Amino acid sequence: MKLRENSITVLENRYLTRDEKGNLIETPEQLFRRVAKYIASGDKIYNKEPNIEKTEEEFYNMMANLEFMPNSPTLMNAGKELGQLSACFVLPIGDSMEEIFDAIKNAALIHKSGGGTGFSFSRLRPSGSTVKSTGGVASGPISFMKVFNSATEAVKQGGTRRGANMGILRVDHPDIMDFISCKKDTSEITNFNISVGLTEEFMNAVEKDEEYSLIDPHTKKITSKLKAKEVFDHIIEMAWTNGEPGIIFLDRINKTNPTPQLGEVESTNPCGEQPLLPYESCNLGSINLDSMLIKKDNGYEIDYEKLGKTVEKSVHFLDNVIDVNKYPLNEIDDMTKKTRKIGLGIMGFADVLFKLKVPYNSQPGVDLARKIMKYIDDKSKEASIKLAKERGTFSAYEESIYKDKDLEFRNATTTTIAPTGTISIISGVSSGIEPLFAISFVRNVMDNDKLIEVHPYFEEIAKERGFYSEDLMEKIAEAGTLAHIKEVPEDIKRIFVTAHDISPEWHIKMQAAFQEYVDNAVSKTVNFTSDATREDVREVYTLAYKLGCKGVTIYRDGSRQSQVLSVGKKD
Ligand code: UDP
Repeated sequence: MKLRENSITVLENRYLTRDEKGNLIETPEQLFRRVAKYIASGDKIYNKEPNIEKTEEEFYNMMANLEFMPNSPTLMNAGKELGQLSACFVLPIGDSMEEIFDAIKNAALIHKSGGGTGFSFSRLRPSGSTVKSTGGVASGPISFMKVFNSATEAVKQGGTRRGANMGILRVDHPDIMDFISCKKDTSEITNFNISVGLTEEFMNAVEKDEEYSLIDPHTKKITSKLKAKEVFDHIIEMAWTNGEPGIIFLDRINKTNPTPQLGEVESTNPCGEQPLLPYESCNLGSINLDSMLIKKDNGYEIDYEKLGKTVEKSVHFLDNVIDVNKYPLNEIDDMTKKTRKIGLGIMGFADVLFKLKVPYNSQPGVDLARKIMKYIDDKSKEASIKLAKERGTFSAYEESIYKDKDLEFRNATTTTIAPTGTISIISGVSSGIEPLFAISFVRNVMDNDKLIEVHPYFEEIAKERGFYSEDLMEKIAEAGTLAHIKEVPEDIKRIFVTAHDISPEWHIKMQAAFQEYVDNAVSKTVNFTSDATREDVREVYTLAYKLGCKGVTIYRDGSRQSQVLSVGKKD
């Protein structure tokens, strides 16, 4: 197996099994074997004489060839005692002490097992309202978020990653203005991403510059009215300041809720790509698009036949995960099996664009995104129908939107674009559908040793075209973009664009193109340069709404003291 150095480091640090003394007792091959074997065993539930070996081999080969990777908890926990395999959960929070602290306990159990949790705080009564049993005053959603945050701090997810949370508040909750600025102090509520749940009514009021009503969720009474534009301004101001809150379009999400009779979607998972009903969980998996290319004499092509087969095997894999998963709560077990949502997506999209010589920020780039994702979505539905014939539809099918259309699916949803933060490192490709952050960067090792890491395909092209030199690669790393490097030919510059070369509008157009053919949602960060204005942020938030996205997350370079990715010289 050919793994990159970074991939081996990640696997060794976090995924490969160790003995009680901390010694590694698993190789990457053994990890993929463990996962393949365990997930294939799910076939036994439906088939009395299953060809488990064949399934195991198919699953093993997909992972070992870095063609498909399930989300991290599956890699970490499959075939082990813990056995919790899902990345995403949403938990309900009711408006009573019991329900609030039950949710905290349940979140702790999920974090311990490697999953992330999303919550809507919209049902909690506003701060300052009365509490009947004590005659006291309610502290409101934000003060409870701080309690959730502290609990998360104390529980490291599965011993390998810190718990991640999403906190949502509806825009018509009376505490909305405080919520929007609750992460202004970036040292607070650090284990939460926050997003405002926007309604159609609110977006219309912004457009018409009207007021809208705030409603106490406990009494259901209107408490006051606010000018929609002022609230939107406050969201923009804070997002411009440090990237939060994001926004999600709640009504739009619920328009595509496949099982409205089971309830309303109030929240997404931590990174926003997976809207779920309370107590639902979802397991994700991503196809490495780079491994679906074939080299031809005059360049690369997508091997659609291989892609189609990989989609079918991936859907089979993810459907099995639902049955062999060990759920942290009975309620989650029940809900998850009612809808059997899976989220198949892609990674390595930016790498593929480089090899196909298509710029990310171009109409051909966006058209290609549509074509690829439509193909994956169609194939995933075919695979889900095939499974339904063998295993039955998801149990809430009769109550789903598919019933009237006579579309007998095994899974209420099949597609999601995940961030693939770690599985893309394992697979050695660009993450999700994001553009590359840098073509080359300097890694500081030890005191003065510098290691220059160059995108392998760029290095290949640079050598082929005769402009490669180590000095040039260092210069590119320091500049953070090819835009002003005169040694690089113009046609190469146009193709090898990175996050900051791409205008926010193209980021959104790309997100919207993928969303068209994705059941769930799309994980995407719209990158702004540090000199972007509040108006720029507003335009992007508005454009995302117009183009049919389910939400937006933005980040303006340098707007937080510690940021995950940065380019250029640091002093
Ligand atoms: N997630 C989490 N903690 C983390 C990273 C991810 O709980 O540190 C959850 C979260 O719900 C996120 C989902 O896993 O939305 C998928 O993230 P990603 O694709 O980056 O995970 P990977 O499988 O690559 O580790």
